Amino acid sequence: MTRRSSHLRVERLLARLEAAYPDAKCALHFSNPLQLLIATILSAQSTDKMVNIVTPALFKKYRTADQFANAEIDELENLIRPTGFFRNKAKHIKEACRIIVEKHRGKLPRTMAELLELPGVARKTANVVLGVAFNQAEGVVVDTHVQRIARRLDLSHETRPEKIEQDLMRVIPKEKWIIFAHLLIHHGRAVCVAIRPKCAVCPIEDLCNSEDKTI
Ligand code: SF4
Repeated sequence: MTRRSSHLRVERLLARLEAAYPDAKCALHFSNPLQLLIATILSAQSTDKMVNIVTPALFKKYRTADQFANAEIDELENLIRPTGFFRNKAKHIKEACRIIVEKHRGKLPRTMAELLELPGVARKTANVVLGVAFNQAEGVVVDTHVQRIARRLDLSHETRPEKIEQDLMRVIPKEKWIIFAHLLIHHGRAVCVAIRPKCAVCPIEDLCNSEDKTI
């Protein structure tokens, strides 16, 4: 595939997905950047739906980074228990909030490097926070849906999220990095599911040559 034809294909993919999912956005509920960070930490190995069930009580009890940093660990663990891996997540949230208070005066930092210093925060979480809370495109969110569909669409042959992200940053125009991940996540939930993708109703079927296709 030439550079131009691959550029055209990506443009078509984006246009079709944007038309199919005009309301694609982050599914986590939050009302400030700190809440988004915590919700994203909780979403690891869980679902956005489950996180949205847990966070109203959590955000009612703890409103600031300082309050999270000083939370009783047992109480925090109990509130987030349904999201799984709750001991680690509670430890990470407390420690991340301690750093936010001590190094950033209680405000969430806005750079990739500073976010990556927070426990429990890898590139995926940092990209979610930067893209969704600050509208800053420093990379592409690579979650399980993006990982699977990028490979099905031949946008990356890599298996590690960091490598897939680098491939996507090369082929997707920077101004589309944030929406691209939302689109793929929606597509992955609705149509391009992991087992038996619903190719018969897929809006990009003619642009996909995946071996996983069901038609
Ligand atoms: S055609 Fe099938 S495998 Fe390809 S993107 Fe659509 S749903 Fe996924």
